[in-house]
Amino acid sequence: MYADPVSLAQALIRCASVTPADGGAQAVLSGRLARLGFTVHPLRFGETENFFARLGTAAPHICFAGHTDVVPPGTGWQHGPFAGDIAEGALFGRGACDMKGAVAAFVAAVEHVVKDGAPNGSISLLITGDEEGPATDGTVRVLEWMQQNGQIPDMCLVGEPTNPKALGDVIKIGRRGSLNATITVYGVQGHVAYPHRADNPVHRMVAALAALTASPLDEGTDWFEPTGLQITSIDVGNPAMNVIPAQAAARLNIRFNDRHTGASLRQWLHGTIAQHAAQFDLDVTVSGEAFLTKPGPFTALLSSAVHKITGRTPRLDTGGGTSDARFISRYCAVAEFGLVGATMHKVDENVPVADLHTLTDIYAAVLRAALA
Ligand SMILES: [Zn+2]
Repeated sequence: MYADPVSLAQALIRCASVTPADGGAQAVLSGRLARLGFTVHPLRFGETENFFARLGTAAPHICFAGHTDVVPPGTGWQHGPFAGDIAEGALFGRGACDMKGAVAAFVAAVEHVVKDGAPNGSISLLITGDEEGPATDGTVRVLEWMQQNGQIPDMCLVGEPTNPKALGDVIKIGRRGSLNATITVYGVQGHVAYPHRADNPVHRMVAALAALTASPLDEGTDWFEPTGLQITSIDVGNPAMNVIPAQAAARLNIRFNDRHTGASLRQWLHGTIAQHAAQFDLDVTVSGEAFLTKPGPFTALLSSAVHKITGRTPRLDTGGGTSDARFISRYCAVAEFGLVGATMHKVDENVPVADLHTLTDIYAAVLRAALA
């Protein structure tokens, strides 16, 4: 049992913790951590169970961030999504790779490390039950609590699945930002035969959208792909063939690198649209800012731990969607390394049992290097 990531991952999978339900998952973890000597702070915000647990008070302080919630299983599973079956060398269940397996591997790694004696520094876990949902009462709130209570770590490792095919492929050192915008252009309704008495908002919208897509926003950076803007919808809904409509709407998404912020892009959108439309509304939501942990001591430490255990040199990458690392990046150096993500959010999500042991060894190597 002791230091076994597989039985712990099974116990976590057996807690049906579809966001925002907890299903007892955090009690399983906090009980195990308390027995190791961690001070556990349960932090419930709204409907969401979270906790922060720390072992030791000295620097350096390394934190592992993860979530116990999972996405709904859907139907068509061969193995029960909350059964924790092992078959053909793999552990099946919702959350096996995203990311109960990685959480279990980290706890097992801590067990390995502390049996050699108290670590030279401190180890903490930031565990949320709201990563797959709106993420408002989860990591953001726990970080605020950590700041108020002097618990901000020196470095943070997020256990999201980062590897496309095999353990050791990729360490994520940043993520692109994401922005959604809805544009509504207003004109003056009229007869198509008398356009001088109308003001066609569709023409204005088309010109504005053409200007927005005329040239790339940037060429990318050393660590990021170029920023991409995609128009996702143009909506007029005009049933008549002889009427110039009064308004036209469009929506777009921008995936942006760290040469932009949500605010700078909002300003650019506003200025560009204003050149083509006198009256318009621009509604912008930023679901995450771009962030980057520049390659340095922390990423080097992670890379060498991965290399030591797998013999492979991971690529440093910023691709993919958003994760809670975007919040942590406001406070300290953060990078992500977890399991292989091939089956995450899919039916029959699973992880090779061998990978759970390898990831445990990698996390233990990270802890030993960080707290040497
Ligand atoms: Zn996840």
